[in-house]
Amino acid sequence: MTQEPRKLLQGQTGDWEVVIGLEVHAQVSSKAKLFSGASAEYGAGPNENVSLVDAAMPGMLPVINKYCVEQAVKTGLGLNAKINLWSRFDRKNYFYPDLPQGYQISQYKEPVVGEGEIEVELDDGETIKVGIERLHLEQDAGKSIHDLAPKESYVDLNRSGVALMEIVSRPDMRSSDEAAAYYSKLRTIVRYLGTCDGNMDEGSMRADVNVSVCRAGGFEKFRETGDFKHLGTRTETKNVNSIRYVKQVVEYEARRQIEVLEAGGKIDQETRLFNVATGETRTMRSKEEAHDYRYFPDPDLLPLVLDPAWVESIKAKLPELPDAKKHRFMEAYGLSSYDAAVLSVDKDKADYFDAVAKGRDGKLASNWVTTELFGALNKSGKEITESPISAAQLGSLIDLISDGTISGRIAKDVFAIMFETSEDPAKIVEERGLKQVTDTGAIEKAIDEIIAANPQQVEQVKEKPKTFGWFVGQVMKATGGKANPAAVNDILKKKLGVD
Ligand code: ADP
Ligand code: MG
Repeated sequence: MTQEPRKLLQGQTGDWEVVIGLEVHAQVSSKAKLFSGASAEYGAGPNENVSLVDAAMPGMLPVINKYCVEQAVKTGLGLNAKINLWSRFDRKNYFYPDLPQGYQISQYKEPVVGEGEIEVELDDGETIKVGIERLHLEQDAGKSIHDLAPKESYVDLNRSGVALMEIVSRPDMRSSDEAAAYYSKLRTIVRYLGTCDGNMDEGSMRADVNVSVCRAGGFEKFRETGDFKHLGTRTETKNVNSIRYVKQVVEYEARRQIEVLEAGGKIDQETRLFNVATGETRTMRSKEEAHDYRYFPDPDLLPLVLDPAWVESIKAKLPELPDAKKHRFMEAYGLSSYDAAVLSVDKDKADYFDAVAKGRDGKLASNWVTTELFGALNKSGKEITESPISAAQLGSLIDLISDGTISGRIAKDVFAIMFETSEDPAKIVEERGLKQVTDTGAIEKAIDEIIAANPQQVEQVKEKPKTFGWFVGQVMKATGGKANPAAVNDILKKKLGVD
């Protein structure tokens, strides 16, 4: 892993580097909540999905949802992390109208998943590694609604008790691009696993963005010693719910902190809020106002003890994850790391590519999928799952090129027709007479005609071999692009007496 600062920020008084750690809340894809049988589905009417447990009625008792634990373990395995066979739920006490219990059940000192690490691809083609500190399970809170009536606030408890996985990274990111790439990679992983739908608009994934700045070299010292004193004081900006906003928060905070420090001020460890309208952050609460959560083990719940055989069985059923897929694409199909990453970010895209490439020239398949197909889908605003061309059809088109039935140029026309009509390529080629002419008699005839009609060019090509290409173009034109290029080259060379 590269240790140098990826990007130094210039200030008035010298260079700074930025350090970022993310706490990502990912909602577990589960029918029921973490400790109750109420539905966890999004979009129900206010307070429709609320059980006695979620409303914290006196005497209620939470019961752990095994499915949610399984999803957390699965995610932990997907993050190459240690699964803790013994973990515990704690009460995190605070008062808020949307939290009827007066505490959130969370995991504090003993999380279900410990340290891990993931690979993150950056836009410039480089790959970094980001450490995972922990993943723990916790309940979501309800929602206060202040904008429905002028003098009243409402509380919707549908989210109350929904299972969240909090995934805490190490402070391993050093630019807004790295933070964005990490967040997006995390989303890819949970979507592959099916443990979270990654839907940021519905709040299924949101990040608390921790940012600090230090003088150039500070990060390196921190990495060597593990001592946080080499890093600056961090601020934490809460509930950032898109990749673009994560980037904006990092950029804004880094600049703001540098200005404060250069003016002789100091950074308070505080919680901040992001304003999407202005792209700025502002103080939510300072360290002095920080809650004392008075954590203690929840007496209503036993420690969570996992059977190693159960964890193994989850591991055995894991789908192939993006990194494994990326490496397989590189090895099996000879793709570059970049192409392999592009094709593996999204499971549907990866499955499509796999089907096209299997038993064919991987690079050719990658070209057709990433350039032609993704390009056409982009233009028409379609997802891969809505592609008018099936993987089998695109595979057949590639076969027609490979076996010489059509030329690469004609294939592009066929592709365009396929995209319009969803017809099979063989049928299009047959019906429209697009087969490559390999019949040397027909090609020869076309060449003879061109030579007879262009004596000047025939003279010229002997002095200037570069003009040979002009003849190739003429033959292609005369044959409607269908002549086999290799045959055209051979015959032309012979007839023109060049080599
Ligand atoms: P808290 O609950 O107080 O927010 P956590 O341990 O849950 O603490 O999360 C702290 C987050 O802040 C982690 O993602 C960590 O990587 C990050 N972090 C810690 N120190 C720094 C720092 N100096 N600069 C940037 N990020 C930091
Ligand atoms: Mg935290």
